[in-house]
Amino acid sequence: MSSEFVVTKSYQSDYRSPARYIWSHVWRQKLVLFVQLLGAFSNAALASAVPYFTGLVYDRLVNPDPDTMAFVWQIVLLILLSQGARAVLQLMRNFGSEVFAQRIERDVRDELYASLLGKSMTFHDRQPVGDIMARVTNDVREMNLMMNPGFNLVIGSSFFLLIPLMVIPLIRLELLLVPLLFVILYVWTQYHYVRTLHPVAQRVRQSFSKVNSRLAEALEGLQVVKGAARERQESAYFGSLVDEWAQHYIRQSEIEARYLAYLWLGIAFGAGFLHCVLLFQQGLISGGDIVNYMGQIALFGFPVFSSLFALSRIASGIASAQRILTIINTETDLDRNEQGYSGKLRGDITFANVSFGYDAANLVLKNVSFSVQAGQTLAIVGQTGAGKTTLTKLLNRTYDVTAGRVLVDGIDVRDWNLEALRSQISVIEQDIFLFSRTITQNIAFGVESYRQEDVEEAAKKAQAHDFIMSFPDGYNTMVGQRGMTLSGGQKQRLAIARAFESDPPILVLDDSTSAIDSATEDRIQKAIWTAAKGRTTLLITHRLSQIRWADRIVVLKQGEVVAQGTHDQLLQTSEVYRRIFARYEDPVRSEG
Ligand code: ADP
Ligand code: MG
Repeated sequence: MSSEFVVTKSYQSDYRSPARYIWSHVWRQKLVLFVQLLGAFSNAALASAVPYFTGLVYDRLVNPDPDTMAFVWQIVLLILLSQGARAVLQLMRNFGSEVFAQRIERDVRDELYASLLGKSMTFHDRQPVGDIMARVTNDVREMNLMMNPGFNLVIGSSFFLLIPLMVIPLIRLELLLVPLLFVILYVWTQYHYVRTLHPVAQRVRQSFSKVNSRLAEALEGLQVVKGAARERQESAYFGSLVDEWAQHYIRQSEIEARYLAYLWLGIAFGAGFLHCVLLFQQGLISGGDIVNYMGQIALFGFPVFSSLFALSRIASGIASAQRILTIINTETDLDRNEQGYSGKLRGDITFANVSFGYDAANLVLKNVSFSVQAGQTLAIVGQTGAGKTTLTKLLNRTYDVTAGRVLVDGIDVRDWNLEALRSQISVIEQDIFLFSRTITQNIAFGVESYRQEDVEEAAKKAQAHDFIMSFPDGYNTMVGQRGMTLSGGQKQRLAIARAFESDPPILVLDDSTSAIDSATEDRIQKAIWTAAKGRTTLLITHRLSQIRWADRIVVLKQGEVVAQGTHDQLLQTSEVYRRIFARYEDPVRSEG
């Protein structure tokens, strides 16, 4: 399957179906699985020993002889020893089970995260962040709970069903009748129970995703919500989603409440007892056998009680595994193209008849052609929505062209090794993203190893050193979530410093911020000018001073190139350019 990024792991899971997926994870933990099976088996076997011993003692007490008390003491000792061993084995089993579940959760989460990093932007554009978060956190967690207590209890229960079926025929073969019928009915009931529960569990998971998506979006857009005084409506809508989620949960409990196995257990007790008494009257079994038999039947109580809980964990776990697989198995358009060209990039760029649309119906760029030579600066101008930002996204293959070709150093970007291409192009986006890490780490993002002096050197060139030093922690200042604590101009200069630090042959600068005071503007101006030197630069800007010194200017209008040339040429030849230019000189600048 195509992916933009792949982590090589020591294991490979089976993604073909939820069951195979779960099994491939379970099987990887074979050893722990074996400990669990052993623990579960011995637990049931040793539990079954108690009624067996009790039966033996009962028969001796009914017809006592001088050795009876010595016999009783022996049995007491045996019970103590066997139950002591059982306790130790349980400890191992429950510990193993927890290890098992945590390991699986860890692996699944790793796998999912790596898969998310490998998806194209087209995929991420469509998938709400909150929904992905719900899958990475809660659905992965559900898989853990499915293993422990879910899977653990189901294995445990199975042995509590099997052992009595093995012990009872030793008392008398006919006695198998009732327990056998019970087990058949029980398994059939469980099967239907899980089948009915599965779709409901799925709906619970989905509605949780919706709640989470809404929450993520509301927090992201909190300023807008407050600014428009929409708190009440937002809260009401959120309330309705939470309510829907709760309703699905209640539906799940309703199914759980209609759990039939308790009824079967009651019937098994009654019918089994009757069967025993009949056999006893015919002199076929002893009183001790009745005690033993009823004790064995009582073992069925554990699966009946625990499955109610364990099976709903399993139904939820399967629903979650399905949701995780949906993400992992979604095809994305781009791949790493490992065999592709991966030489050192010089910096020639050519767009040849490029058309592009985010969806097939609407072309955002139409037949765009231009070229830039290595080391030159190209300014892209045009109104908001003209397609300037989109154009830059085709260069590093954030998206692929719909038609035409984008060439870097004469090679189609689709023939480049994706990592080689991207690591040599630095993009400073219109909406600058900073990580919640220190300033140093933000500047050095994208370089393997860095020296503090280099980071500071880059910051100086980007005119960022002074304001960084004005913070109490200097370069160690933690940037707030999404860079909230920095102004637009400061963020931009940090991003430029980042570009200096990684020193790419191609720099793309989407400088569409408006309304910056003139002192800051001068500094940014200077930073950009220094940054553009010695590399190919695509500059999207409204600033007259920057447009003027560009080697070449492309004028975009509604996705089409309407003019290109130098500033002086365009002033002479292009009416559109003159008009845009006149508007730019206007003190009120537009944002794009
Ligand atoms: P500019 O940067 O010139 O303001 P953009 O390249 O951002 O213009 O946008 C060009 C057009 O593409 C606009 O009509 C915009 O609505 C659309 N567009 C931008 N990004 C996306 C996206 N991720 N998905 C769908 N449409 C988009
Ligand atoms: Mg833009």
